Amino acid sequence: MHEILNVNYNNSWCYDIIFHNSYDKLGAELEKLELSNRKVCIVCDSNTSIYLQDVIENTKNHVAFVDSYVFPAGEENKTLDTVKNLYEHLIKAHFDRNDVLFALGGGVVGDLVGYTAATYLRGIRFVQLPTTLLSMVDSSVGGKTGVDFDAYKNMVGAFHQPKCVYMNLATLQTLPAEQFSSGMAEVIKYGYIKEAPFYQWLQDNHDRIMNQEYEIILEMVYRSCLCKKEVVERDPHEKGERALLNLGHTLGHAVEKLMNFKLFHGQCVAIGTVAAIHMSVMRGMLSMEELEEAISVIRSFGLPVGITGLDITEIIAATKNDKKMEAGKIKFILLEKIGNAIIDSTVTDDEMRAALEFIQNK
Ligand code: NAD
Ligand code: ZN
Repeated sequence: MHEILNVNYNNSWCYDIIFHNSYDKLGAELEKLELSNRKVCIVCDSNTSIYLQDVIENTKNHVAFVDSYVFPAGEENKTLDTVKNLYEHLIKAHFDRNDVLFALGGGVVGDLVGYTAATYLRGIRFVQLPTTLLSMVDSSVGGKTGVDFDAYKNMVGAFHQPKCVYMNLATLQTLPAEQFSSGMAEVIKYGYIKEAPFYQWLQDNHDRIMNQEYEIILEMVYRSCLCKKEVVERDPHEKGERALLNLGHTLGHAVEKLMNFKLFHGQCVAIGTVAAIHMSVMRGMLSMEELEEAISVIRSFGLPVGITGLDITEIIAATKNDKKMEAGKIKFILLEKIGNAIIDSTVTDDEMRAALEFIQNK
């Protein structure tokens, strides 16, 4: 089966998301972008380079020239240094304003290549070829690009929409199990913030998801992208509703930073989500049973739900550096009920402390 979703913001930008089980249909998509006179640089990391040849084969007859650039895998390389090296590569290869970058990899490659595309020659086109569950369900859609700066997450960035997002779901077969679980944190997030029935569906299909049955993964990725697409179409620049997608991210980013990126992004989001649900319980919006259920669901998808070896005061201090601050206040995402999130700027340090104490050593 081969599915397509179209993302369209007031006709000012518009692109397709293709869901398929190989790169066979990539050429047909590239034809729509009219690249026959254009150079393409396929950028990947040292792990996703296993798909480079396949992508080159499916690209070369549809563009004037195919180039590639590989950088070392890992969040620690999502930096301006890597961007600088890529700029140098593009300049040497005479990439001009009409040429195109491909981001072949997970969220690190997608964010970094997207940012390079946003800034090189004041902006060139790029295509997302996500290869992790996290990048398929979240980071490849919506046009947020950027890099970390001095270990501050996504401190430097730009909004820049891709021209096409092509997902070869078969690439998930080589993804390590922990990375698959990391992506599940963002999938479950959609259930909490918007789609209670999807949250139930995830629980009902738990085993088939963890066994990575193709049809069920396709449905899960598709439904996640549909949710993301609808949010970013309504609020592309995060003036309001899009902030709901940051459930679990304020404390999650703080943990991610303090752990020196040894925990994966989705793992940190899972931890932050449990903390946010705890705060929602303390405010009387959710029940203790719902919190216990959330913990068991998140755990069942192979995700951590607690912190060990971190200082709570340091975590709270680190949240103050998160860029989601507005006039000195942190914008927290809480759950009014399962499937309905709200933005709240009144969360106190004491509430954070109580939530962090609750998840400590869990
Ligand atoms: P990642 O890109 O680091 O990929 C995880 C690991 O898996 C890496 O080692 C990578 O080389 C490897 N890998 C990727 N695909 C593989 C495959 N098919 N087979 C084998 N190995 C593979 O991390 P991620 O979890 O995809 O993305 C996390 C990043 O995404 C974070 O930097 C986060 O801030 C960002 N993010 C951005 C957005 C956004 O809207 N732009 C949203 C969510 C997350
Ligand atoms: Zn995230």
